[in-house]
Amino acid sequence: MKANKKNFDAIIIGSGIGGLVTASQLAAKGAKVLVLEKYIIPGGSGGSFRRKGYTFDVGASMIFGFGEKGFTNLLTRALKDVNEKCETIPDPVQLQYHLPNNLSISVDREYKEFISKLSRLFPEEKEGIRKFYGTCKKVFNCLDSMPLLSIEDPAYLLKVFFKAPLSCIGLARWLPINAGDVARKFIKNTELLKFIDIECFCWSVMPALKTPMINAGMVFTDRHAGGINYPKGGVGKIAEKLVSGIEKLGSKIRYKAHVTEIILKNERAVGVKLSNGEEIHSDIIVSNSTRWDTFGLSNNQKGLIAREYVPKSEFKWSETYKPSPSFVSIHLGVEGDLIDKSFNCHHIIVEDWEELENEKGVIFISIPTLLDSSLAPKGKHIIHAFTPSSISEWDDLSRKEYLAKKENYYSFLISKISKIIPKLDQNIDHKEIGTPRTHRKFLGRYEGSYGPIPNKKLLGLLPMPFNTTKIKNLYCVGDSCFPGQGLNAVAFSGYACAHKIGSKLNINDFKLPD
Ligand SMILES: Cc1cc2nc3c(=O)[nH]c(=O)nc-3n(C[C@H](O)[C@H](O)[C@H](O)COP(=O)(O)OP(=O)(O)OC[C@H]3O[C@@H](n4cnc5c(N)ncnc54)[C@H](O)[C@@H]3O)c2cc1C
Repeated sequence: MKANKKNFDAIIIGSGIGGLVTASQLAAKGAKVLVLEKYIIPGGSGGSFRRKGYTFDVGASMIFGFGEKGFTNLLTRALKDVNEKCETIPDPVQLQYHLPNNLSISVDREYKEFISKLSRLFPEEKEGIRKFYGTCKKVFNCLDSMPLLSIEDPAYLLKVFFKAPLSCIGLARWLPINAGDVARKFIKNTELLKFIDIECFCWSVMPALKTPMINAGMVFTDRHAGGINYPKGGVGKIAEKLVSGIEKLGSKIRYKAHVTEIILKNERAVGVKLSNGEEIHSDIIVSNSTRWDTFGLSNNQKGLIAREYVPKSEFKWSETYKPSPSFVSIHLGVEGDLIDKSFNCHHIIVEDWEELENEKGVIFISIPTLLDSSLAPKGKHIIHAFTPSSISEWDDLSRKEYLAKKENYYSFLISKISKIIPKLDQNIDHKEIGTPRTHRKFLGRYEGSYGPIPNKKLLGLLPMPFNTTKIKNLYCVGDSCFPGQGLNAVAFSGYACAHKIGSKLNINDFKLPD
């Protein structure tokens, strides 16, 4: 198919929240962008899909970044910058843990309440608890006092240093540190250290010793500062509103537009090729696909870049980080009277600490209809549950074996959820089961992975790559870039990417954001 003219300042491959925040920020700065999404809805793992009157979240449902104050509320800000807003519902409790030895604790929105509760469970560690979470708060306060833009841009670094010098120095200090090392400085009780492991694992899929302190500081404090807030109508509303804002500013999104190749000329990215043969050209290409999918980093995998042009630094990165396992997810529509109104929305079950990082070692459960009843038909609830599972468990199965294994995992999840929601199996109105193969296929993610995790203990966030790549005019955004997984983290990555491109196009505001 004939190549078109360069109608767009930038092409963004993928409409995950990282891709959409890049697109919306560029559009807000006056650039004309084209987002190419291979699926039929926007949002990737942060999208929603509808079945039989239910609105299910694809993946994310515990949402940070919707606060009103400070600078870490990147979802609120990203929407506002394109004249959009999500109505949100505050969640009074971030999460209820159901842990070995009958340890059960909920994390209240109110910081003091949570700290007193935890201190009552571990009275001899009262001081250590205060110091650990207090240090997290210090890290957060540094982050929250400066506009969060591209660390790759020297002009920004200089400006932000003059605006908040102490915060910059504070953050630089925590960049190479992991949360587990800080916890061990203050806390000795092994069960409490395990608790801090699951506090990290539930969003970083790593124990505390491998979880960067910057991310821990952000998560463990923002849940009490901005709080956890659920977007009314489902998490997919965030992506839908970003798309609406982008389109109103004259930029475009195309669905069922599967990019199969990034076209290079003289070792620069100059355009993309779609699965239908169409070529679209632009001087700037942004990939919101994972680094494994963009560069084809495993032996037999074809990426978007021809193998001979893949930078060595990308292969090196794939030696430092590996893909985390994927999940088996179930989405259920259930009878409403099964769940009491006072039940918390998000739960985590761990039965054996030794299994934390293993297949089916942790069960995540969300019931978003407790916050927003409009997600289900009248008198019904939604339960979304998932457990870690590796692609190696699911490849090379016959159709019959695959279906049998799906049912087996389904029964496993139902039996575990039934421990906190009895009689579940007799009250199911609708069910969907997704495996790592489903995540790979519908989210276009290598091995269906949740994202990169360190191969070994690393120096905090230092080795995570930023948005620029060694290929001229090619940028990456999303969870395989600094600072990693989670909607607010990929929103940061989107802000940083758009800022870096903005400085190249000379469209950035001179002033830092208020
Ligand atoms: C089960 C689960 C639960 C989670 N829970 C939470 C949570 O509670 N809170 C939270 O903050 N985070 C959560 N996360 C993590 C969060 O959802 C992700 O980190 C984040 O959404 C990743 O965003 P992204 O921009 O990197 O891209 P993705 O969401 O991966 O989106 C990338 C998009 O690019 C498209 N694409 C890929 N390749 C191509 C191509 N070649 N051509 C065209 N389009 C392409 C894909 O179709 C997809 O739409 C969860 C994730 C999962 C899987």
